[in-house]
Amino acid sequence: MTSTNAQIKTACVIGDPIDHSLSPLLHNYWIKALGLQAHYNRVMIKADRFNVDVTNCFKDRNFMGMNITLPHKQAALALASDASTEAKKAGAANLLIRRKGKLWAHNTDIEGFTGPLIKARGSKGWEASTIIIIGAGGAARAALIGALKLRPYKIILLNRTDAKAQALAKAFGKPVLALPWSDRQNALRGADLLVNASAAGMAGKPALDLRCEGLAPDALVYDLIYTPLETPLLAAANTAGYGVLNGLDMLIGQARPSFEAFFGVPPPADEGVKAILVKTLEVQP
Ligand code: NAP
Repeated sequence: MTSTNAQIKTACVIGDPIDHSLSPLLHNYWIKALGLQAHYNRVMIKADRFNVDVTNCFKDRNFMGMNITLPHKQAALALASDASTEAKKAGAANLLIRRKGKLWAHNTDIEGFTGPLIKARGSKGWEASTIIIIGAGGAARAALIGALKLRPYKIILLNRTDAKAQALAKAFGKPVLALPWSDRQNALRGADLLVNASAAGMAGKPALDLRCEGLAPDALVYDLIYTPLETPLLAAANTAGYGVLNGLDMLIGQARPSFEAFFGVPPPADEGVKAILVKTLEVQP
């Protein structure tokens, strides 16, 4: 039987802006590798059209769901009839699918964050660890929820705008605490994991104003940014001999459960897609 467009399952990523999203490249690579009758698009949606446009997408029976990026992650959660515990805790969703005829929201950024960390350092043995998270936006919140799953001794939040870190620490309670941005250098002393979940260090933005010295000797520095793949923070951490992780594995890690939710099969286990993404990022302006 020949295939028709009516048989092609679709999914997409929505945001504003959306041109630079790597999600179509990622998902279409997996679709091709598995030989699925499917396609993954990018769609620009303006905030004032969010509810109408998203609802319209789901009217198509072949439309399996969407990933959501800035600035719509909170609106996605608000629109859904129900949501996973992770999405509710994060106060944001990056995945919308249909479940029993209703919209269901989930947040795979949390799993995306913990996956590379667990691969690098395991899921056990964090009881005595101190984890530092820089930032208090959506990525920091996902990192915080992921870090809490490791049951560390302490999680210290540091954010340029102190009040936001304090509010987040208050919302989550022990073992999360916020320290003043002005104390950030001291706060690092002896920490086992430093996570940059802020936008500082992204291409076109100033580097994070923090030296990664004073961390525990076997500390890991995890920058959630992937443009560039090596931020000034990661370059300094490398030079200092710390373990490093960039945001690319998190990007792939959040896409894996999304792909399975859309198309009903897990993406290929191999890391072939990573080389394609690295190549693309290296030539991107
Ligand atoms: P967001 O909600 O806009 O939050 C941005 C955060 O960065 C805020 O806490 C902000 O502090 C802080 N910040 C911005 N410029 C700063 C500077 N110069 N110095 C210190 N702090 C600064 O953004 P987001 O969604 O959380 O994203 C944050 C980063 O995570 C981005 O770089 C993004 O690329 C990355 N990310 C990666 C993935 C992945 O899959 N790898 C997924 C999501 C996000 P204030 O509160 O003071 O403004």
